This record gives sequence, C-alpha cells and structure tokens, in this order.
Amino acid sequence: MVVLLGVSVCFRTVGEGMFHCPSCGGDRRYRRRAGRRYVSVFFLPVIPLARLGQTVECRSCRTRFNTGALRTPTAARMEAALPAAARAACCLALAAGDPTSTAARIRAVDVVRGYGEDAYGPDELVGDLEMPESFHREEIATTGAQLAVEAKEWFLAQVVRVALASGDPLSGTQRDALHRVAEALGMSHAHALGVILTTTEGASR
Ligand SMILES: [Zn+2]
Repeated sequence: MVVLLGVSVCFRTVGEGMFHCPSCGGDRRYRRRAGRRYVSVFFLPVIPLARLGQTVECRSCRTRFNTGALRTPTAARMEAALPAAARAACCLALAAGDPTSTAARIRAVDVVRGYGEDAYGPDELVGDLEMPESFHREEIATTGAQLAVEAKEWFLAQVVRVALASGDPLSGTQRDALHRVAEALGMSHAHALGVILTTTEGASR
C-alpha cells in the first residue's frame, strides 16, 4: 500500500475586528489568522509541527499583513482622538495664561466643539483643567503622530488663538506652553514658531 505523506499548512482564525487597511485604504474588518505546519497523511493534517507567525487579513481586499498593521488607528478612532487632543491642548494654553478669562474659556470650548465634540461645555473644561499636564501631553501626542503637517499647523493655530483670546499679548509662559503643544504634535521648534508668529500677527490685524 502506498501512503501519501506530505507537509501542509493550516490556518485558523484567532481574532476579528476593525483595522485601517493600508491596501484598500479605509476602515475594514479583518481576521487574525494563526498558521501551523503539519505532517499530512493522505492530505489530512496529522502531526503538528512548528507554529507560523500570525497574519492579519483584510476581509475586503484579502491582502495579508503582519500584525503590526493593527497599530495604525482606524479613521473612527482618529475621529474620537482629535477632540480629546484639542481639549488637552486648550487646557495647556489656558493654564499658562489666565484660566479664569471668560473669553479664553469660550474660545477653548469653541475649538473643541469645532473638532466634533458638540456636547463639550464649560463644566467639562473645568474638569479637564484639573488633569495633570503629563496626561494632556499624552493625549496630544497620540493624535499628533497621525496628523498631516497642514492639520498640525491648523491645530496649533487654534490653540494659539485660545491663548490670545483674553486680549493680552502672549507671555513667555504661554509661548512655552504653545511650544510644548507643538512638541507633543511632533513639530520642530522653528516650525511651531512660524505658526505662532503668523497666527499672532493675523489676530492683531
Ligand atoms: Zn483591504
């Protein structure tokens, strides 16, 4: 009798979810698959051999990636992260100036709402102002890493306007805070300085 021996690879699904597919470029469902080699007898896997690495497969375009692809945030997650970053940056700007200034607080609330958090109001702002600076910087950095250059500039310009809203020129402390926001966004000092100057000049005209 002839016994057909061979080695086959079997995959099984070990997880599912949503990810940003770099191939078809959008939020897609994925399945995470783990592979294993088997010694097969008559094409049936019988003796398990080495495990293979896990792969992530896009359910739409079927392209496979390594699991690092799951680290890119989905568009939906980015949408939620932007207002959080705006809240954090406005707090840093307010805390460095006069946090009791009504004009500055109104401007800060407007900026956050402009980034999509419609329910944001003065009460939420008071709560945010009690959070430590390290928390705020982390919120900004999470989003900053994903933003395009123009989006970073726009973001920073809005925060500069919050700092200017009380009507006084920027103090040294406020400038430092704005540079810390820019740094968390991943902007260079010179780049940030350009945005701060342009926005300040535009506001005084
Ligand atoms: Zn895809």
